[in-house]
Amino acid sequence: MSRRFFVGGNFKMNGSCDSLKAIVENLNNADLDPQTEVVVAPPTLYICNVRDHIKSGGKANLAVAAQNCYSASSGAYTGEISAQQLKDVEVNWAIIGHSERRTLFGDTDDLIAKKVEACLAEKIKVIFCVGETLEQREAGKTLEVVEKQLAAVGEKVKDWSDIVVAYEPVWAIGTGKVATADQAQEVHKAIREWLGKNLSSQTAEATRIIYGGSVTAANCKDIGSRPDVDGFLVGGASLKPEFVQIVNANK
Ligand code: PGA
Repeated sequence: MSRRFFVGGNFKMNGSCDSLKAIVENLNNADLDPQTEVVVAPPTLYICNVRDHIKSGGKANLAVAAQNCYSASSGAYTGEISAQQLKDVEVNWAIIGHSERRTLFGDTDDLIAKKVEACLAEKIKVIFCVGETLEQREAGKTLEVVEKQLAAVGEKVKDWSDIVVAYEPVWAIGTGKVATADQAQEVHKAIREWLGKNLSSQTAEATRIIYGGSVTAANCKDIGSRPDVDGFLVGGASLKPEFVQIVNANK
């Protein structure tokens, strides 16, 4: 089965009206591989600006994502946004479980599973992030950690057709220390096996598993060529013109 190559750009807490406009214009004018699905996640404040200016109907079918979304649908949750609200503004994707949410803002496996559930209930598709710290990798616990993170969502969600799994080793995020293609492939393969064992062989075959952590134009082709790597989640490089080369890694 062929899985459509997927590249997400996570702008994190970066950008201004002007700089995001320039990034969107660069993407709108680029010759993007039409086989690749591209989703960019600006800071929430700018989400509607980006939605309004990005070319969503064209060949590349660019879409916009939120970087986070709370599990409740509305109410007294200062600073949060809900899946219902994303749906209201026609933003159809959310990144859930990013390691910065887990480590800096206390998102637990349980809360992440609830957030994924809340998004899917509103037909918001999810980029669900998993990954181990350096300490966990050095202790030989990578697969154990990743499987525990997967299982938390797997307990609540059986239909993963609107989920893209992002494997992002924490030690590779924003550090310039990219995983080798072998390291990425090993974990991606294990994630696919987990999906097959715990959900279904159809889910294992169909689910896109993308790699994130210091992806650049220079390293994307090698990692992206591995059989279980179906694309990337890109942080720092998604703010730069080289993002286009990453989108086109498979071209
Ligand atoms: P990076 O971030 O590409 O800057 O390492 C990746 C991510 O956090 O998604």
